[in-house]
Amino acid sequence: MKIKAFKVEGNGTFAKDVPAIADAIKSSGAEIVLLPGNSRVKRSAAAAAMRAGAEIDTNVVDLDVADGKAVARRWVYRQRIFTAFSRAARPWVIVTDPSLFGEICGKVGAEEAAFAEAADAATRTAVVGEESAVTGGESTIKPDAKLLFVAGAGWTKKQADGALHFDEAAAEITGFLAKSGASLGSSKSLVDMPEAAAAFKFMSHMNQVGQTGATPRHQKGLSTCCHGEEPHVVGWRFVNERRAVNLDANCGWAQGKADVVYVADAFAVMKKVNELLG
Ligand SMILES: Cc1cc2nc3c(=O)[nH]c(=O)nc-3n(C[C@H](O)[C@H](O)[C@H](O)COP(=O)(O)OP(=O)(O)OC[C@H]3O[C@@H](n4cnc5c(N)ncnc54)[C@H](O)[C@@H]3O)c2cc1C
Repeated sequence: MKIKAFKVEGNGTFAKDVPAIADAIKSSGAEIVLLPGNSRVKRSAAAAAMRAGAEIDTNVVDLDVADGKAVARRWVYRQRIFTAFSRAARPWVIVTDPSLFGEICGKVGAEEAAFAEAADAATRTAVVGEESAVTGGESTIKPDAKLLFVAGAGWTKKQADGALHFDEAAAEITGFLAKSGASLGSSKSLVDMPEAAAAFKFMSHMNQVGQTGATPRHQKGLSTCCHGEEPHVVGWRFVNERRAVNLDANCGWAQGKADVVYVADAFAVMKKVNELLG
């Protein structure tokens, strides 16, 4: 496997480094390109990889190459999980932890290549069009709305009748959004759930509220079918008036995180609310 390492060090600017690194990736003809994760590389490598048609992973702490297959390792989820992964796409740009760059290059026998500081490339971006960040249809993220309506994973859980109600959940949520003009937030569990993606097309990772998500600033918040775990609720710190609907009287919201908790079935509550909104 052709692995090349570019020892990009010192100072540089985004405008000059992006075309230069992109050029280095392309002209190296390497299947795997190794870069040290210093601040200069981290600033420009992702954009350069995109220009070069490469895929990129950062913060890699180990790399194994055997039988034509490369396996990288890195920590994810705020250093809680150590993952080993591979990519079929080539070129694959791997940005290593800066202190491990030399060690990793030596381990996989990467060939050191010279990095030309300035590439002869256009630095102005030509806008060819705009694309909405939402997965389709109307945006559900409305920063100016008074109310933040948060949907949690409970909408996708088996309900009292032992069945799943994805379509009904989607209809109640979108019905309420249309009638109230509220902005839609979500818990991480819900946006990470592949089985819910088809029914919940109106939301994406952009809706996620919390420690690893957004921190919206709406005046009021209504949480439904969401447990109120700390990593989620930390994203509510600028939402002053908080209410939650949960079947569980011991959920996190009931433990000082909401002003009012309705211990009730959110399907029934939102159905009634939507009826009342007309
Ligand atoms: C480092 C780290 C970072 C994280 N960052 C985030 C983050 O940014 N955002 C985030 O959201 N999470 C984050 N999490 C995950 C978080 O800890 C929770 O796991 C997640 O928020 C739980 O989502 P949930 O409440 O929707 O689902 P669940 O915990 O599954 O809760 C579902 C709730 O729905 C209720 N329910 C079910 N049916 C009904 C019904 N019919 N009516 C009413 N209630 C019902 C249940 O009683 C339950 O309380 C993070 C975790 C870690 C470790």
